[in-house]
This record gives sequence, C-alpha cells and structure tokens, in this order.
Amino acid sequence: MACFDCPRMCKAGSFCGKEEGKVRIAKVMRHFFEEPIICEEKRGCGAIFFSYCSLRCAYCQNYPISHEGRGIDYDNAGLKKLMQTVAGSDVTSLDLVTPTHYTSVLLDVFSDFHSPVPVVWNTSGYERSENIEKLSKFVDIFLFDFKYCDNNLSIKYSKATDYFDKCMSALKAARRCIPEDIIENGVMKKGIIVRHLVLPGHIDDSVKIFEKIKEELGTDLFVSVMSQFSPCYKAVECGLDRPLLPLEYKKVKAAINRMGFDKGFFQETSSASLDYTPDFDISKHIEL
Ligand code: SF4
Repeated sequence: MACFDCPRMCKAGSFCGKEEGKVRIAKVMRHFFEEPIICEEKRGCGAIFFSYCSLRCAYCQNYPISHEGRGIDYDNAGLKKLMQTVAGSDVTSLDLVTPTHYTSVLLDVFSDFHSPVPVVWNTSGYERSENIEKLSKFVDIFLFDFKYCDNNLSIKYSKATDYFDKCMSALKAARRCIPEDIIENGVMKKGIIVRHLVLPGHIDDSVKIFEKIKEELGTDLFVSVMSQFSPCYKAVECGLDRPLLPLEYKKVKAAINRMGFDKGFFQETSSASLDYTPDFDISKHIEL
C-alpha cells in the first residue's frame, strides 16, 4: 500500500523499514541531552525513540534503531498508553524522536490524547508540509534537524534527492502554523527550534543552510548547532572519516552569529562523542 508519511511516498516500509500496521519503539527514557528549553536540567524530557527512519543517514549514530530496526512493537492503544505514561512522568516535554514514518498512526493517536506537557516533534526535517499542517493541531514544538542545503549531500548521505526543498517547505509550514515561540519560566511551551549537526568538511553547506533560513524566515528563531559528529555506521565509507575540527566549528558559529541569529544554543566542541547515544539494549527498553 502507498504511504504518505514522508516525501518518499513509497510502498509502505520499502525504504524506511517499518512494517505496515505496526509501530516499533526502540527506547523510552528520561533524556537529559536535548536543548534546555525543552529539557530542564533536573526533570529532563520524556523521550520516545521510534525504530526505523525515513532518512537513514549513512553516518547515523543511532543506526542500531534507525537502520537495523531494533525495538519492540506496539499497537495504537499501547502507544497511546505509553505516551500518557511518559507525558505524566514529571518531565519537561514529551519528546517524540524521529516519528515521521509513523505520522498517520500518530495523527490517529493524537486525536484522543491530551498531554500535560508540550509535545515535541523531533524530526530529521524530511517532512511533507501537508503533514506538518495536520500535526500542528496536536504538536506544540517542532524541532527540525536541518541537515543539508546541497542536494548532492542529501543524495550521497541520505538518498534523498529533494531534502532541502522538503525541509524548507515543512519548516515554513510549521512557522505559519506556530507563528511565535512561547517561553514561560525558561521552558518552551510552543515554538520551533532548528537544530543542525555540522559535518566535517562541509562547513560551507552549514553556513548556506542558515543563510537560506534567514532569507525565508528571518533570524527570530531558536537555533541549536551541534558539533558532536563522530564517524558512525557507514560514515567512513562515505568520506566522513573524522570528527569536526574546532576551527571548522568556530567558523560556522561565527557566521551564524554574524547573520544575527541570537536565540539559541551552541554545543561545546568537546562534545564530539558517542556519550549522547542512548543504550538501545532491549532489556532496558523503558528507563524513566
Ligand atoms: S515513511 Fe517509509 S514507507 Fe512511508 S513514504 Fe516514507 S519511506 Fe516510504
């Protein structure tokens, strides 16, 4: 059956790996490494990591779940119950990590789900803007991981010919639906965050992403720039064989600051490590 959950619009599961009629979840945890406005230091956020992925980047540090599909299957009722448990666990937000390929299931679950904390759609950015519009009735915060400007890079690393256009259209749709960011006591209640992982050797592309965002949406936007790249999975085969250099990161940070983005977060350069990767051991499926 055709699937419309992501821009590939392919036969269900043929690219992302998901099985029709099932939602697989890799990990449920109290997570402390998201941006502080969605993840307070003491409470953390309640993260649900979905298995499989519609982008499947060659360098993914979560490859045991995104490529290999490690996880446990849930039906819609089980997923809703799980989401209620996580959202009600004294967390800053309910963080749905890489949920795009389960959009239709989640729209169904959301129709009868009320979260006491903001719901975060933590996406690779490879989205259909139509879906973002539908999701915006239920999602409070869109966290876009804007990965590439140059489609040659998105083809090489993520087999996506149209990544930039889709991500930018989806981001603009999110901004139309949530026109302003609402922050209360240092916590985001509604809004948009654009995250970006700087890839070694590709700092020009990083800068171009923010130039384009500035052109389309201005600079009144939360940004989160990450330096933590480590060569994982098939990264070395693709030429991404080293961490990001401090000088590369410094240049990207300086360019983003010069453009006028003054709301946001810059990861420390010493953060290049796999410490941020959760333990996806099935015996520790839920760690709240
Ligand atoms: S979510 Fe998966 S099955 Fe659906 S269109 Fe995207 S890649 Fe294809």
